[in-house]
Amino acid sequence: MARYLVTGGAGFVGSHLVLALLARGDDVVVLDDLSTGHRAAVPAGARLVVGDLANDRIVDALLADGPWDAVFHFAALSLVGESMRAPMRYLRDNSGNGIRLIDACVRHGVSRFVLSSTANIFGSATTPTLAEDAPIEPASAYGESKRMIERALLWAERVHGLRGASLRYFNAAGADPAGRLGEDHRPETHLIPLAIDAALGRGPELTLFGEDYPTPDGTCIRDYVHVHDLADAHLRVLTRLESGGVSYNLGNGAGHSVREVLAAVGDVLGRAVPVRVGPRRAGDPARLVACSDLIRAQTGWRPAFGDLHQIVEHASAWRIAHPDGYGPR
Ligand code: UDP
Repeated sequence: MARYLVTGGAGFVGSHLVLALLARGDDVVVLDDLSTGHRAAVPAGARLVVGDLANDRIVDALLADGPWDAVFHFAALSLVGESMRAPMRYLRDNSGNGIRLIDACVRHGVSRFVLSSTANIFGSATTPTLAEDAPIEPASAYGESKRMIERALLWAERVHGLRGASLRYFNAAGADPAGRLGEDHRPETHLIPLAIDAALGRGPELTLFGEDYPTPDGTCIRDYVHVHDLADAHLRVLTRLESGGVSYNLGNGAGHSVREVLAAVGDVLGRAVPVRVGPRRAGDPARLVACSDLIRAQTGWRPAFGDLHQIVEHASAWRIAHPDGYGPR
């Protein structure tokens, strides 16, 4: 039985990976400080250690309790807008914790490390889609904080042989197709859950951040990728890491504007999303759409739920079934 440590396994993407690992019969330990994650999001069958990644004693004790077949690192601050108000916090906490974790993995002989990275390491695209060789110009301090961890991972491989995968997610969305897990950020800042709440009358009208971008309808274009498909990519990458480190851009390759997402939410729920147009949000590039040819070719990954309506359907189903999300923390 393989054994994995998942930092941030109580968060949105991390919890879906834990579910996928458990479904294979793997042994999973989650390290999460529950500052943004939820105890109830950690699937039964995984062991939860509540602790802070910045605490070297906890991290060392966990890693010493090996052997570990791989470490998956999700735990991080992850909000573009917030990172532009508190850039130093993002660089200090995200990059600092990530680099210390990599260092600890090297010291404890972990051989594979999978980093949850982001499309925000790329500036706005000059080409229709972004492949791995697109210029890296983080649009926000959040993107920069992840890029710094990616760089540390390259050095850990070059000097110490730790094989690392940097998975640059585009816009993680959706929910477990079987309804066991979903998205519950507090405060919620992401487009799809906010639009669902606005349409259901559970939240305020949606503020659309800028309608003056150089895109066909003036709103930002993003590549929404299903959280189930992201989890599947992590499993495939583990095998691939046996032959060396990789960086992959992970998305469906289809761009949708904010207006198109709002229309999809309206269609799925049968109610229009109430919207008001506000100013741009700092750190938002006009267009981020993935070219994921490399991971497709090298691992056989294919999105099972690439259709925006399906993504919105799964997200809506979980939100309707869980009006209070994971409940009180
Ligand atoms: N967005 C918006 N209003 C909101 C939240 C998001 O207009 O209340 C826009 C945001 O500017 C971006 C897109 O929706 O263009 C996706 O944003 P989200 O925060 O969901 O993900 P991000 O792209 O920051 O990872």
